[in-house]
Amino acid sequence: MAHFGQNELVTSDEDKQFSPSTDELLGNNENFVTQFADHGLSLKPKRQLAVVACMDSRMDIFQMLGLAHGDAHIIRNAGGVVTDDVVRSLVLSQRLLNTQEIILIHHTDCGLQKVEETKFYAELAYEVGMKPWWALEAFDDPYEDVRQSIGRLLHSPFITYKGHIRGFVYDVNNGRLNEVSADPRHV
Ligand SMILES: [Zn+2]
Repeated sequence: MAHFGQNELVTSDEDKQFSPSTDELLGNNENFVTQFADHGLSLKPKRQLAVVACMDSRMDIFQMLGLAHGDAHIIRNAGGVVTDDVVRSLVLSQRLLNTQEIILIHHTDCGLQKVEETKFYAELAYEVGMKPWWALEAFDDPYEDVRQSIGRLLHSPFITYKGHIRGFVYDVNNGRLNEVSADPRHV
């Protein structure tokens, strides 16, 4: 298994050449404002849909699903893992903002497949002098990881609508969503 060693991250050429983008992006936003056409969209997602996805920069969730602005909640983190904070967002999404369907999207070539969780914790705890109080949620198989996430949703007492939950692995090489079959233990 490949591993991101600390030195690799700190001394890569990309880091040496780093310059922040925010000022340039604010210029882009000025152009966006002049073309803004989303006035009057409802706070409640039109499709009553919430998508939980990995933060990966190659995935544009709206684009890959043909969603329009205002259609769905998009909840993202490293891996698209169902964490306590994702449950918090889904509870708000379902109970206050009327969503009833959940799509989970993990993907091939995920950063979380490239770390060894135990080693990562040990290095981090040694460096900062404090053990992380959260799980990194590293995994080997994105399909199995989607099953884990579906299982967590199905077992959560806080998720009201469980009748329309489906999970997918996005192939970063061709853009296709491959559906993950449910774990028979959870159906
Ligand atoms: Zn990822």
